[in-house]
Amino acid sequence: MEKKLTRRNFLAGAGFMGAVMGLGLAGCTSGSPAESAADDSLSATGEGSEAGIEWAREADVVVLGYGAAGAATAIEAADNGASVLIVEKESLPGGSMARCGGAIMGAGTRVQKELGYEDTPDDMYQWIMTCTDGACPDYIARAYADRCGANVDWLEDLSKAHTDQQLFEYARAVGGEGATSGSSGGAGCLDATGCEYEKFGFSKETAAPRTHWATAMPDNTANSGPELFLPLYEAINARAEQIESVFDTKFVRFILDEAGAVIGVEVEGQNGPENIKANKGVMLATGGFCASEEMQQKFVPEAVGKKCYMSDACQGEGILAAMAIGADLAQMSYYYPIAKAQQYHYNVQYNDVFYHWDMDDEGYMEVPEDNMAETHGGVVINDKAQVLNVWGEVIPGLYASGNDVGTNIFGKPGNYPGCGCYVSFAVCFGRIAGAEMAQA
Ligand SMILES: Cc1cc2nc3c(=O)[nH]c(=O)nc-3n(C[C@H](O)[C@H](O)[C@H](O)COP(=O)(O)OP(=O)(O)OC[C@H]3O[C@@H](n4cnc5c(N)ncnc54)[C@H](O)[C@@H]3O)c2cc1C
Repeated sequence: MEKKLTRRNFLAGAGFMGAVMGLGLAGCTSGSPAESAADDSLSATGEGSEAGIEWAREADVVVLGYGAAGAATAIEAADNGASVLIVEKESLPGGSMARCGGAIMGAGTRVQKELGYEDTPDDMYQWIMTCTDGACPDYIARAYADRCGANVDWLEDLSKAHTDQQLFEYARAVGGEGATSGSSGGAGCLDATGCEYEKFGFSKETAAPRTHWATAMPDNTANSGPELFLPLYEAINARAEQIESVFDTKFVRFILDEAGAVIGVEVEGQNGPENIKANKGVMLATGGFCASEEMQQKFVPEAVGKKCYMSDACQGEGILAAMAIGADLAQMSYYYPIAKAQQYHYNVQYNDVFYHWDMDDEGYMEVPEDNMAETHGGVVINDKAQVLNVWGEVIPGLYASGNDVGTNIFGKPGNYPGCGCYVSFAVCFGRIAGAEMAQA
């Protein structure tokens, strides 16, 4: 049963009145006209105005951001019976994931077994706790370690089911030299790259090979982010009856009921401001704040002015909106610094399919020296990917994964688990959230 929402009890239930008031009541969408008519291609509620809210669209699960975390959430929610609406700010899907190096991390995968490497969730758990040096909560490391291997297999299964490409080549590049530089021959291989393993008593040769690089097809370019994202994209296309996507539509703020539960979102798209109802939950998967100078100034002043290699769409709007309803934050000053200049090279056939930025017509992207890669700060989640407020309580209806999350496996600057950890983390808690919301 839905509860009636009024301007007064919305504020009372927000659980963080100061933040909402501080926005000049901006969070109170009951006052906004949301005049746009419902798009015929999406289901309108037909309920008209409920306590001043006009719902233009609705779905069981509303996913904010069509990148790594958002795509994994959508598929998992759909496969657990939910209807899903993905809201994407850009005109194409993929976010940073579709332009990444092409690596996903996992322990106990089919690829590892086939190549004769013994690796277990417990080994991965120990590694995460060691290399993140106190920055990763125990419950996050455990939940991640238990699932990351199966998630690599899952992605490979999606690839087999929905693409005609082979995701992994089942070959190890010993040492994987060069793979961290962004211009590696790592595509297609399994290796141990990215981390300064020596700091923790390993070398690239002795560290467990957990970085799975997607194959770059059809031309063997150095980087295979598009190929790694392709299975997620095609799996979503294959579930068109359950998953709809809207592009050029920016998430703006959450809509709460009087108990403080997230029941929908306000977005800004071609029709102007619209409210979207989420019957089971909202997924925050907007990719962090790497590209926002304003947020850098606020949280990582030392990085102001540094070039960021993530998607320029990563402006932190999702984290700000979560702050406005009382979400707790963690590790906001941590990020992944890259000292050396890098060059990325992707197959250009994906240029009209996935979003890209800073790339020339031949698929090259130059990343200058001394740049800021991923931000590591964001909202606090529990092991079910539910967002917690500043008092450690669950904000009902709100879930998060990927670079919007601060309780992660990424560690302190200079200490990160290795190539593939970002996509792997995003997929892991995305899938957890998708299943949780569908079953809510
Ligand atoms: C060049 C490069 C190389 C990398 N290499 C690797 C690698 O090999 N392995 C690895 O694990 N990681 C790698 N990464 C990092 C990895 O790609 C990201 O950490 C990962 O994609 C984060 O997932 P996400 O879902 O949080 O964000 P994203 O994948 O970026 O998705 C976020 C989505 O949200 C959308 N969005 C943003 N704001 C809004 C809004 N207000 N409303 C609606 N939508 C919004 C964005 O447009 C985007 O589509 C690399 C990144 C880059 C840029």
